[in-house]
Amino acid sequence: MNIILLGPPGAGKGTQAKGLAQKLNIPHVSTGDLLRQNVAGQTELGREAKNYMEKGTLVPDELVTRIVEQRLLQPDIKKGFILDGYPRNTSQARSLDRILGKIGTSVNLVMDLDTSEPVIIQRLTGRLVCKKCGANFHIKNMPPKKDMACDYCLGKLYQRSDDNEATIRTRLEVYRKEVSSLIDYYRQKNLLKPVVADGEAEVVLKEMVKLVEQINDSLKV
Ligand code: AMP
Repeated sequence: MNIILLGPPGAGKGTQAKGLAQKLNIPHVSTGDLLRQNVAGQTELGREAKNYMEKGTLVPDELVTRIVEQRLLQPDIKKGFILDGYPRNTSQARSLDRILGKIGTSVNLVMDLDTSEPVIIQRLTGRLVCKKCGANFHIKNMPPKKDMACDYCLGKLYQRSDDNEATIRTRLEVYRKEVSSLIDYYRQKNLLKPVVADGEAEVVLKEMVKLVEQINDSLKV
């Protein structure tokens, strides 16, 4: 099953993608994570992407599409994937269709995680991320058991440099500017399913698993 998660920053795409990937035993592909790895590794691509990411604006399509294509051509993608953070505009959506066409597959389901702005700001300004395994925590809602250490791998927790209120507002503006045409793109293809994502992570995940099962059943018919 090839799944795309749409939704504003802070909608919980990363958290839900990890949960869903575990349940379905398929890889989670996050363009934000891939870009951050490139920035940390100081690759040429990372150096080019860094400024955009720090401002909260979009990295040029050509750069992001290059890393997505490299990732989607890996053999583990054959059993399906959960794509989080890509596409972010219709040009990327068309590039994705082209890449998937090359490997003889296509998108099966697009889940649009709907979240209100106060929830987004509260989630992102308190978000903590594990440097080692990428797990997410929250200073208040989901504090780690040990101070600033990951519950799963004891990696160091940090706050993303773009998780400050000014950059979050820019990221939200960028998201809103592009999202309606992207939603139309997938609605026309009859792939779009809305998910109310303001609630607790486990409740939202259950809802998403139900949607996946429905689509799975319809694919078998
Ligand atoms: P995320 O982890 O999805 O919140 O992404 C963090 C940042 O990486 C974004 O604010 C963008 O600067 C960049 N980024 C991630 N995915 C994309 C994409 N598909 N297109 C352009 N920029 C992206």
